[in-house]
Amino acid sequence: MIRPPQWHGASFSEALDGDIRNDISARATLSEVLGVSDSWATVHQVHGREVVRATVSGDGGDADAVWTTEPGLPVAVFTADCFAVVMSAPGAVGVAHAGWRGALAGVVAEMRSVMVHSGHIPTMAAIGPGIGPCCFEVGAELSKKFSDHGAMTTWGTSSVDLTGSILGQLEGLETWVSKGCTYHSDGWFSHRRNGKPDRLAAVGWVV
Ligand SMILES: [Zn+2]
Repeated sequence: MIRPPQWHGASFSEALDGDIRNDISARATLSEVLGVSDSWATVHQVHGREVVRATVSGDGGDADAVWTTEPGLPVAVFTADCFAVVMSAPGAVGVAHAGWRGALAGVVAEMRSVMVHSGHIPTMAAIGPGIGPCCFEVGAELSKKFSDHGAMTTWGTSSVDLTGSILGQLEGLETWVSKGCTYHSDGWFSHRRNGKPDRLAAVGWVV
């Protein structure tokens, strides 16, 4: 489990913490370590830009971002190569799931905007571990869509810097970015590398 420094209400799990999406006991253990309830508010992630406000735990339906103002209600998204973003405002916290589809759709900007319009202006953000530009090989068509964030894999083919793209949606916020690439570094789950259903979690809570 990694915690952005000087943040009390955000955490990203590692492979060592187990499959936090599917393994209830792994989720309970992680919650206990974090000192939060293991009844989380989650969403059915569909790689879009829908944002849900949670007032109770459980699945909030098809969406890729979930935020809350409820003290004691953790909000979470699950990833394996995609990026998770935690955003906090005084009295509110949100988490978003963004792979290339979500990044293009602007789900992070959308969550920020929804929070702002509800009177909760985010001040800090954290980006969890995902697939780096070192390994995120893409075809020509996708490469074109991310022309501002084009990069190169370590083996010399076209790739996309998704972190850079997401950072563009977090302009003006103090943002912490996790080190490591889920694809080539040990310690994470990678859907692209092994295709397994295991997922990392990003969890946020109001402090
Ligand atoms: Zn890599």
